[in-house]
Amino acid sequence: MRHRAKRSLGQNFLVDANLQHKIVEALGAGAHDEVLEIGPGKGALTRHLVDRVGRLVLVELDDDLAAALTRRYGDRPDVEVVHGDVLEVELPFRAPSSAVVVGNIPYNITTPIIFRLLERPRPRAIVLMVQEEVADRIVAPVGTKAYGSLSVGVRSVAEVERLFKVGRGAFRPVPGVDSAVIRITPRRPEPLDAREEEELRILVRAAFQWRRKQLRKILRDHPDIGASDEALERALEAGEAAPTDRPERVSPEGFVAMARSLSG
Ligand code: SAM
Repeated sequence: MRHRAKRSLGQNFLVDANLQHKIVEALGAGAHDEVLEIGPGKGALTRHLVDRVGRLVLVELDDDLAAALTRRYGDRPDVEVVHGDVLEVELPFRAPSSAVVVGNIPYNITTPIIFRLLERPRPRAIVLMVQEEVADRIVAPVGTKAYGSLSVGVRSVAEVERLFKVGRGAFRPVPGVDSAVIRITPRRPEPLDAREEEELRILVRAAFQWRRKQLRKILRDHPDIGASDEALERALEAGEAAPTDRPERVSPEGFVAMARSLSG
């Protein structure tokens, strides 16, 4: 099918067959697995997934591409094509916590997609192609400039590996940036309950909104937190942090411990 790539939908198609294969290999899904592919496009990854996995759900927003996928796979009982926005549609998993997710996802909505996938119940594993700079931010070491709310938001509930780089030449049209493939493996059992997780979200957002300030000030004076002296001290101790530390000095585990303490 001839298709003119739409920049508004982040359409950069992966044309390197070795890399298509490598990404699907990295997912390691087999005949018993339920797989969600985000933005299958012209099927660069899809063609390596069908006949290999137990059930395949394809979520594609583009009208023409979704129609072409339906023509190609619509008759198969093991493939479901969902024409819609991955950020809006109900994800039709049968067993969410054992499902796996893969996608060469549109750059402009990378972060919302990652946070959507990390809502509970979380899939077993997620393999994504993202902008290299986003991959770097997610895996950034504590204390570096790139370490921030994205690093903590993801690593507080999941393990992340940066698997390999993909140069821009592997796509058509050629994008302006390089990419990297990452694997996100949600932690089991869940480190926090739902209430503690909400506290974590608030804490991380507040901390990095005020990333130049010290933790004591953030915990005490940020309008979304407003901890008492006693609660503040307990939280810092739990997070093994000093009152004068800035947020970038606190590890994801430290944030988890602080959130648990603040919500207790
Ligand atoms: N997987 C294909 C490949 O590797 O060649 C296409 C990748 S392209 C970077 C991103 C794909 O996501 C496009 O097919 C685009 O139409 C689709 N897309 C964009 N926004 C979307 C959304 N909100 N929900 C679902 N699919 C979306």
